Amino acid sequence: MTANTASPLSNEAIVAALSAIVGPQACLSQAPDLQPFVTDYRGLYVGQAAAVVLPNSTEQVSQVMAWCHAHGVVVVPQGGNTSLMGGAVPEPQGQAVVLNLRRMNQVLAVDTVNDTLTLQAGVTLNAARKAAEDAGRLFPLRIGSEGSCQIGGNISTNAGGTAVLRYGNMRDLVLGVEAVLPDGRIYSGLRGLRKDNTGYDLKQLFIGSEGTLGIVTAAVLKLMPQPTASSVALAAVASPAAAVALLGEAKKTAGQAVTAFELISGPALDLVLGYLGKVKSPFEARHDWMVLIELTSGASAEGLDQTLMQVLESGLESGLVLDATLAQSGADAQTFWRIREEISDAQTRTGGSIKCDVSVPLSRIAAFIEEATAAVLALEPQTRMIVYGHMGDGNVHFNPLRPADRPAKDYLGAFYEPISRQVDSLAHAAGGSISAEHGVGVAKRDDLSHYKSEVELALMWQIKKALDPQGLLNPGKVLPAPVAAQA
Ligand SMILES: Cc1cc2nc3c(=O)[nH]c(=O)nc-3n(C[C@H](O)[C@H](O)[C@H](O)COP(=O)(O)OP(=O)(O)OC[C@H]3O[C@@H](n4cnc5c(N)ncnc54)[C@H](O)[C@@H]3O)c2cc1C
Repeated sequence: MTANTASPLSNEAIVAALSAIVGPQACLSQAPDLQPFVTDYRGLYVGQAAAVVLPNSTEQVSQVMAWCHAHGVVVVPQGGNTSLMGGAVPEPQGQAVVLNLRRMNQVLAVDTVNDTLTLQAGVTLNAARKAAEDAGRLFPLRIGSEGSCQIGGNISTNAGGTAVLRYGNMRDLVLGVEAVLPDGRIYSGLRGLRKDNTGYDLKQLFIGSEGTLGIVTAAVLKLMPQPTASSVALAAVASPAAAVALLGEAKKTAGQAVTAFELISGPALDLVLGYLGKVKSPFEARHDWMVLIELTSGASAEGLDQTLMQVLESGLESGLVLDATLAQSGADAQTFWRIREEISDAQTRTGGSIKCDVSVPLSRIAAFIEEATAAVLALEPQTRMIVYGHMGDGNVHFNPLRPADRPAKDYLGAFYEPISRQVDSLAHAAGGSISAEHGVGVAKRDDLSHYKSEVELALMWQIKKALDPQGLLNPGKVLPAPVAAQA
């Protein structure tokens, strides 16, 4: 099955028809207006579109999809356009329509008895968290792009982030989905049920499928009790293996309260401190590995601090911890988190990093980091090893960065392919995944054919063809092309 990226219609005809559905103000077609919607977050992928439509209701989305289906026009769904995989922008050639959900930004219902939040897909993650907070609840998904990314994008990418260890990823947080199918039909699954065994769980099709099977227009999310206290520390650890052992100790001592456990390599700390300027390292000495630990609970702040101190002290005694600092105030905690969260942008602004978002079972993660580091440094010993992320759930962002004096283009040209392949192969060999939370998009699409079995790829294509037989919805994303040709 090949995607039909060129319809027989002119761009003007497409714009006229879609303007009649969403209104002329909500159908953009001038090049400068299109630019931000066809360029991905990192500026690595630039696509081409006939128009960008900004519908304000599920009915409008349905009409747009029905019209595009009838006329063979490609549609690319888009939320906050913060994807790091090039999944939310059109292909470089063609007459795609980008369907951006940002005008569908209404919170529809907060049910504090059922502990659910029902909202349109264009609500930003920040706004969703705020709506939960206003109702005295927590919506626990927490990612660095939360001011821009949208709930529809979070669902479509099955987003993860820093609280997965305790609360799970987006798939664990969604109870119901409403989605518009490629032919315009509406799948109405906006149910707030924690138990529903009436056959296939169809909402799962739209979670993590990166806009290739339908447009998510609304969702019912789970709410959690709001923690009343948190305690945050940064600890320098002897090695990734020591970090894993410390996590085990933290779970034993603090149980469910362990909310985040983030790894930070020495070069990652150097990079982010250089980027942030005024923020100083919390440690006097330079360390190769650090972890940020956060405990949260409904108990008292003092009690939580004591528990975290206990974890750190026993780590110091056993030699797992080399140095540690406990946040003494909310401002301290914010600074620690800022250091962790700005690593991603520090790399983007520096340019020349090879992003490998891998997950490995915790029992094998330390060995993986050691082997992958050795493999990278054997290729280019001056590479800066930016390794950080959600170690508590087995996910590290293993992002080798160009040497400071080597241009990004030069480094990426020489090493992007061999380093990505080595790191992914080692993660795969360790029973891991080549994309833990960022998805596949275009960036990892062709790699899937190396790491997914024939049966898995064939099933993925069968599902795609069942829902989108013309291949008009987000073509060129997720599914590797060679299999498409065979399918
Ligand atoms: C600084 C930074 C930090 C980040 N940290 C994390 C992190 O910790 N964890 C993590 O998981 N991700 C992270 N990301 C990646 C990104 O923010 C997430 O993947 C996010 O969920 C994408 O949401 P979005 O609304 O921006 O989606 P977009 O980028 O607009 O789209 C992503 C994909 O979903 C599809 N899509 C979007 N909306 C819809 C919809 N309504 N219906 C159907 N398909 C749709 C698009 O076609 C595309 O394939 C980070 C990104 C940045 C820039």
